[in-house]
Amino acid sequence: MYLIAAVSAVSLCMTQTDILAHLSGDEFAISRIDIVSFESVIKLSQMLLSTLSKPFSIKGNLIHITASIGITINGINERNSIDQLLQQAHIALYQAKQQGRSKYQFYSPEINAQLQERITLENELYGALERNEMLVYYQPLIDLHSGQITAMEALVRWQHPTLGLVSPVKFIPIAEANGLILPIGEWVLRTACAQNRAWQLAGFNPIRISVNLSARQFELPNLVEVVSQILEETELQVSYLELEVTESFLMADMERSIKTLKQLRELGICLALDDFGTGYSSLNYLKRFPVNMLKIDRSFVQDVTSNPDSAAVTNAIIALAKSLRLNITAEGVETQEQLDYLKMHGCDEGQGYYFSCPVPADIITPMLQKTFQQMEKIPA
Ligand code: C2E
Ligand code: CA
Ligand code: CA
Repeated sequence: MYLIAAVSAVSLCMTQTDILAHLSGDEFAISRIDIVSFESVIKLSQMLLSTLSKPFSIKGNLIHITASIGITINGINERNSIDQLLQQAHIALYQAKQQGRSKYQFYSPEINAQLQERITLENELYGALERNEMLVYYQPLIDLHSGQITAMEALVRWQHPTLGLVSPVKFIPIAEANGLILPIGEWVLRTACAQNRAWQLAGFNPIRISVNLSARQFELPNLVEVVSQILEETELQVSYLELEVTESFLMADMERSIKTLKQLRELGICLALDDFGTGYSSLNYLKRFPVNMLKIDRSFVQDVTSNPDSAAVTNAIIALAKSLRLNITAEGVETQEQLDYLKMHGCDEGQGYYFSCPVPADIITPMLQKTFQQMEKIPA
């Protein structure tokens, strides 16, 4: 019924020479000939989206729907078949849907190439865990005063059979979108906790292991149970686990986030706010989040010695952390100058290529009993 209502609304936006076709389910195509400008296509798209976003009254009930539009244009000298054009429009539609509701998107070969890569990665990501292709790398966090390692951040990598080591920046967003982040995240947590316990059993001074939580994991209703079970299985004492969360996903549902954070804190887990300074960073919510640590985002540390704005933000975050009695770590420390600046301005801990890039456990293990001054530098 709503399809009929939608079609009659759409037809009001069309000209006499436009053709409207029902492709499948709730998918329609409009074909327009003699397009004079991009603007005219944009105008049509905006008109369609706005018309379709108005509620329809069907049998006295108000129905709300939204639409997404993919657009492709057959240039004067192009000879695309109808099938090719429909395929291109579909690719653009997929891209439009990724951007949220009520969006339109033009087809472009670059977007197509990006999507192809993404689709390939996504297909191969299924089963990667079972094929033992996931690895955990470790990067030390250093006490800036003593030079000692206080914690390790666990950072996942994908050892792809043909592409080599794939960065989490590439595959975590895909895993987030299709839910694979849940088994992958749980595996990282288990592997990292087991590694930390193994270091303790080998006689090294106990340190924290820091694991990144994704938004999807954080929303799990049984997150606290999953974490407790992994701690039990790996026999790691809770105070040696730290979980990193980002401001942006905590803000999505403040009250729920606070509840989950409190439950994790009650277990005894340390909580760090990652990428701090890039989100809302409001005092108001910060005092309500029961976290132990702020991690100053790399973008500020990067030019802390050359850009007064970055220096001001860094100083403000350090002051904020001190006043709320939170620990503070600077991410992405790459130079002696940055280290000196951070130390002078009261930062407790640092992490970055200056000390060590993330590496497999067997490479970082010999560094565990050394201070960073004694560590051999592992290049990025
Ligand atoms: P992040 O949590 O902010 O991790 C820090 C990133 O900065 C890491 O990138 C690390 O390799 C990089 N880095 C550290 N020191 C330096 C430095 O001195 N200079 C520069 N330029 N970079 C530095 P990586 O390992 O590629 O991870 C990227 C992001 O992927 C992480 O950012 C995190 O958001 C996500 N990620 C990594 N592992 C996991 C995981 O197990 N679970 C989840 N949910 N996310 C993960
Ligand atoms: Ca992190
Ligand atoms: Ca970070």
